[in-house]
Amino acid sequence: MKENVFLGLGSNVGNRAAYLKKSADAIAGHKGIKLIKISSIYETEPWGIRDQESFLNNVLKIETDLTPSELLKFLKATEQSVGRTKRGKWLEREIDIDILFFGDLVYQSENLTVPHKEIQNRKFVLVPMNEIAPEFMHPVMMKTMKKMLTDTRDKSKVKPYKQRK
Ligand code: ADP
Ligand code: MG
Repeated sequence: MKENVFLGLGSNVGNRAAYLKKSADAIAGHKGIKLIKISSIYETEPWGIRDQESFLNNVLKIETDLTPSELLKFLKATEQSVGRTKRGKWLEREIDIDILFFGDLVYQSENLTVPHKEIQNRKFVLVPMNEIAPEFMHPVMMKTMKKMLTDTRDKSKVKPYKQRK
């Protein structure tokens, strides 16, 4: 139960901050999961399609007894329950929860790749990872989060999000 498991959360529809909060609460509420750390929320400006809402993202550090596939299953169910509460049958993506790292595990199956494939290309993951675990080493790239953030080719703007009360 001492793995450094990191989850990446994102939302760009509706009450984005509320979706992140509800998801973190649901995750922390699982008896096989202990929430260790939670990063600040960051806002990523949309590029490409102009009239799309920007993304809010954060990262959670957890400890868990669950296997990677059990965790994935639970997170998919959490996406469903959190996303449905407010929006009924709405099909857009209210909340996305990805497994970024499962300790040093390197694993690939039909429905799960760990570490997540796109970490190096996503500043909205690297910025919050660098906030809560700058020295954590990517087990395949063998680079710390700090170094990966310096090296990423993603030039998008990721800025701290100020929560309105
Ligand atoms: P996105 O790529 O935008 O996160 P989805 O959330 O719809 O898209 O995920 C598509 C599929 O990716 C999921 O059904 C899941 O099985 C698979 N997947 C593979 N690796 C991971 C991972 N590390 N974390 C979460 N989902 C993953
Ligand atoms: Mg996903």
